[in-house]
Amino acid sequence: MGIVVQKYGGSSVADATGIKRVAQRIVATRKHGHDVVVVVSAMGDTTDELRDLAEQVTPLPPPRELDMLLTAGERISMALLAMAIAQLGHQARSFTGSQAGVITDSVHGRAKIIDITPGRIEAAIADGAIAIVAGFQGVSQDTKDVTTLGRGASDTTAVALAAALGAEVCEIYSDVDGVFTADPRLVPTASKLDRVSTEEMLEMAASGSKILHLRCVEYARRYQMPIHVRSSFSTKEGTWIIPDDDAGEQPMEQAIIAGVAHDTSEAKITVVGVPDKVGEAARIFEALAAAEINIDMVVQNISAAATGRTDISFTLPRADGQTAMSALARLQHEVGYDKLLYDDQIGKVSLIGAGMRSHPGITARFFAALASAGVNIEMISTSEIRISVIVDEAQVPTAVQATHTAFDLDAHEVEAVVYGGTGR
Ligand code: ASP
Ligand code: MG
Repeated sequence: MGIVVQKYGGSSVADATGIKRVAQRIVATRKHGHDVVVVVSAMGDTTDELRDLAEQVTPLPPPRELDMLLTAGERISMALLAMAIAQLGHQARSFTGSQAGVITDSVHGRAKIIDITPGRIEAAIADGAIAIVAGFQGVSQDTKDVTTLGRGASDTTAVALAAALGAEVCEIYSDVDGVFTADPRLVPTASKLDRVSTEEMLEMAASGSKILHLRCVEYARRYQMPIHVRSSFSTKEGTWIIPDDDAGEQPMEQAIIAGVAHDTSEAKITVVGVPDKVGEAARIFEALAAAEINIDMVVQNISAAATGRTDISFTLPRADGQTAMSALARLQHEVGYDKLLYDDQIGKVSLIGAGMRSHPGITARFFAALASAGVNIEMISTSEIRISVIVDEAQVPTAVQATHTAFDLDAHEVEAVVYGGTGR
């Protein structure tokens, strides 16, 4: 039997009891005859606590040292997990990201994986041991410093490692039973999805669904690695994220809508009174690109005939709000716009489904649901398989629930159990 990579999130290993429970599961998989490689996150809210601690010491921790600090979280859980497995009479060896051969670029806090050279993991497997790898970290090819891959990136470590090892499947264990049609914390009647295509999962992750890290889905798609998202607190079958080609091979009646995602981490900036001239939008967005800011939605109005001026609104991560405002303020003279408006009380609600392509009327039904719930739409953007709207942040729960119901996604019996986690 082949290699199974299992990733356990922080809420699954939040305390000694959790670590022992996870160790039992790993050993059970081993006993089934699989070679097991485990990727583990830091215990509970450890990463946040370490961050808070750093901020008590200095408001701007040096990125290199912050990465050194944060990676300690995963070293704790990996060592404890290896001990718990040994206690059950099985061989286990823990490895840091660097030891596991996770080679990255040198951008602290959001390093990208360049290569994986899992020689030590393969050697451990060959010796009959279970390999435990610290998630969300690697080592820079150039500087040889320890790096982190971004918050929530243990998922990405797991899928990248699974691809490098040629694993059969990458199992991602969390505190819910799988991928749901909406965040169960917001919509208790959300239903569990049995299968989702990587294409739909990419849109869901990019639209704020937190169940999987976006880059892990990109990896799964690139390397055709099936992901099984499931709970470490139950033995229920979870959700299979199936690479698109395979999904095509096994024709099935596709649900029109896979789910409703929401995101309250963005802000909206409006540049008011931009002169309607060639090159102004380019100037504005070049300045934002130079500040390394990722723009999400963009809307430009038709300019008012009387003034020859227009408004440009766009959304971006809230965390980049101040940087963007300063970059744009420096352009005021050059561009000659009137003023800047900043709004971080917004939320994005997205409807996702590959079946949308062949079904007319989805947009109308979505907007009608929002209208009857009394939700005003501020911005709209679409892709082939997604419709997103920006609404007032306070109305996000109402908007998600109304949309979920309008598309008949509510489960008849409550399926969504949140087993653990503080939701931090
Ligand atoms: N411990 C890291 C975090 O909290 C990585 C992860 O959980 O995936 O972001
Ligand atoms: Mg996580």
